[in-house]
Amino acid sequence: MAIKRILVTGGAGFLGSHLCERLVESGHDVICLDNFFTSQKSNVAHLLGKPNFELIRHDVTHPIHLEVDEIYNLACPAAPGHYQYNPIKTMKTSVMGAINVLGMAKRCRAKVLQASTSEVYGDPTVHPQPESYRGNVNPIGPRACYDEGKRAAETLFFDYYRSNRVNIRVVRIFNTYGPRMHPFDGRVVSNFIRQALLGQDISMFGDGAQTRSFCYRDDLVEAMIRMMNGPDEFVGPVNIGNPNEFTIMQLAQLIMELTGNKGKIIHKPLPQDDPLQRQPDITLARQKLGWEPKTQLRDGLVKTIDYFRSINFSDFRAPTPNY
Ligand code: NAD
Ligand code: UDP
Repeated sequence: MAIKRILVTGGAGFLGSHLCERLVESGHDVICLDNFFTSQKSNVAHLLGKPNFELIRHDVTHPIHLEVDEIYNLACPAAPGHYQYNPIKTMKTSVMGAINVLGMAKRCRAKVLQASTSEVYGDPTVHPQPESYRGNVNPIGPRACYDEGKRAAETLFFDYYRSNRVNIRVVRIFNTYGPRMHPFDGRVVSNFIRQALLGQDISMFGDGAQTRSFCYRDDLVEAMIRMMNGPDEFVGPVNIGNPNEFTIMQLAQLIMELTGNKGKIIHKPLPQDDPLQRQPDITLARQKLGWEPKTQLRDGLVKTIDYFRSINFSDFRAPTPNY
């Protein structure tokens, strides 16, 4: 195997830290770059002593000069509460971050993969969502800083590809969960598990009839690596996620069962523009990457709950008050 120099932006985050781990285990030279907005060093502490791992505190909105062969661009807050805290910064992170990694890829002739999102489909009117669906995003709503930022990043990736022949990959990630999610991340799986383990009420937004399709972290990271290593002709965008769809009420009930939580569900208002349904059509990923998720929600939740039991919540700083 040829050893590659691989940059992972957002590498200390939930998905990034697992990706770094996989790449380090494979023997590559890995540079993890992060500003620790929604993560902390402890996610990669176990990698710090390895000779093929390096950690840089840096903000992707600023250029950086590195020599690399591959770039996975994951830097961006992903939970609504945190990305809405400073929406202008969120947009800058997606857009200027994309310009900076694309510029680096162009200079180094590196391959660069963008972690895009199912949010490019907004509140979808087509169900399940194939890559050909152009979406239903409110460009002036509270989620727009993230949704439109990620859409603009996709545009930049494809313009650098067409105009400058940069070797790109774009993956559209659907809701993913697993160990190392930040306990104050504010996303539904981490919120419900934290609340359940602390014996608190479960915060259900709306009536819980809205749906999501939850993919386990390891399945997701496997698909990202396959996409990066696949043929240059297949640049995406490709949906990666688990097509098994659940209502948020079903998720709450499953987490309460698995944690033995006897508390109650309290209803809070559904946030503006909260998508009512979401399910990936993964036909393309199956065909082109020979990939499909293996982990069932129940099994993945058991592992995630074990992780949450193993940490002290007080060791974590809430990125913003919105969780
Ligand atoms: P995360 O918040 O754990 O990771 C994001 C990382 O990026 C964090 O470590 C954060 O500190 C870092 N970061 C944020 N702004 C930065 C900046 N300006 N400069 C440098 N680093 C910065 O979230 P995650 O779930 O691991 O998400 C990783 C990527 O995958 C994100 O781009 C996200 O949009 C995308 N994604 C994730 C999901 C999901 O369900 N987990 C779904 C769709 C897309
Ligand atoms: N949600 C909820 N309670 C919470 C957090 C989220 O009911 O404490 C709901 C939220 O309104 C949405 C779904 O769970 O309908 C998924 O939310 P999340 O923030 O995890 O992801 P996204 O909306 O970006 O898919």
